Amino acid sequence: MTTIAANLQAVRARIAAACIAAGRPLESVRLLAVSKTWPAASIREAIAAGQLAFGENYVQEAIDKKAELASLRPDPDLEWHFIGPLQSNKTRLVAENFAWVHSVDRLKIAERLSAQRPPDMAPLQICLQVNVSGEASKSGCDPDQAAALARALATLPGLRLRGLMAIPEPSADPLRQRQQFAILRRLRDSLPMELDTLSMGMSHDLEAAIMEGSTLLRIGTAIFGERQYP
Ligand SMILES: *Cc1c(COP(=O)(O)O)cnc(C)c1O
Repeated sequence: MTTIAANLQAVRARIAAACIAAGRPLESVRLLAVSKTWPAASIREAIAAGQLAFGENYVQEAIDKKAELASLRPDPDLEWHFIGPLQSNKTRLVAENFAWVHSVDRLKIAERLSAQRPPDMAPLQICLQVNVSGEASKSGCDPDQAAALARALATLPGLRLRGLMAIPEPSADPLRQRQQFAILRRLRDSLPMELDTLSMGMSHDLEAAIMEGSTLLRIGTAIFGERQYP
């Protein structure tokens, strides 16, 4: 078994244990493998181990890897999620190349994604990113703006608002982790529309995220190893 396959197995075991602890069905939590900085060869190993949904932060890097993987036979049904900060000049490429965007945090970006989503593709699935830790450096809208923004996003024809996403302040304290995830869950529950997705939980805090209702985990390091940035 490759390292990536073994890591995936270990992550799935952590998810299963956390679902049991939380009294939740295993099918209520999906795993997104965050493959940013890793080559197509690493993604291929994860595909061979049964992983089909991948998260990427850098548009051109993701498009290059998608092209490399396009020749795989049998053709796997891959699902690409954009999870990184998104600038206006990159929205068209994202609208054309991804099934999901987790990092929508302002109306202008959402309007561009909606207008640029090709009409022959299903609506782009989106999450509204919320800054739950209040750190000034973090992306995400203010929790008090979330309801108004969610209402506006839900009207855009090229998009389908699925839920909320957060990247909490890193903490080794499980109680602090849970407090921040709980802010996102309560905010979701307070919104006027039915949203089925809570995109929260990374390699170091997936258990706390599952306890607080995460439906979509974004896991990089625990699957692919420590990232090296050039
Ligand atoms: C990189 C990244 C992750 C993965 O984090 P790990 O700690 O490596 O699991 C998850 N979400 C976002 C938005 C990221 O940028």
